[in-house]
Amino acid sequence: MEGLEGFALRLILELYKASGLPVGEGYKPSTFYYARRGWRREDVGVYRRGLELRGCVRINRVYLDDGAGEVEADVLSESGERWYKVKLIIPLDFECNCPWSSRRFNPCKHVYATTLRVLEDAGVNIGDGILELLVYEGLNRVAYHKARAASAMV
Ligand SMILES: [Zn+2]
Repeated sequence: MEGLEGFALRLILELYKASGLPVGEGYKPSTFYYARRGWRREDVGVYRRGLELRGCVRINRVYLDDGAGEVEADVLSESGERWYKVKLIIPLDFECNCPWSSRRFNPCKHVYATTLRVLEDAGVNIGDGILELLVYEGLNRVAYHKARAASAMV
């Protein structure tokens, strides 16, 4: 799709930047990089299911202009019964309208699926361990800061 490679490059830079964001005590330190072979932790399970779901992502729109960008995609639910709407946003942010996401700030499997699909379609090796770490930490640290900002407003 037009503009996908440019978006993917920008997305990797954003993930790199976000994966270095400071986090406090509320952040569960990730053992993802070391634990991924066992796929035991629940949050790692979400990543793994996103990886499996990436074939069920329909990218509808790619937009990138200077400092702002967006990918809009539909992702088929695991049951195959409905499509969820996912947005990847630059500066780095994400949205999904699935029920799991309505209760959490963390990236859901549809967000992981869309992220990995965009990168893969742009020719990026998504099996690279460093890239996996950037995707996982980048999205989760953004989620951490969104949760912190939301709780500060209460
Ligand atoms: Zn979702």
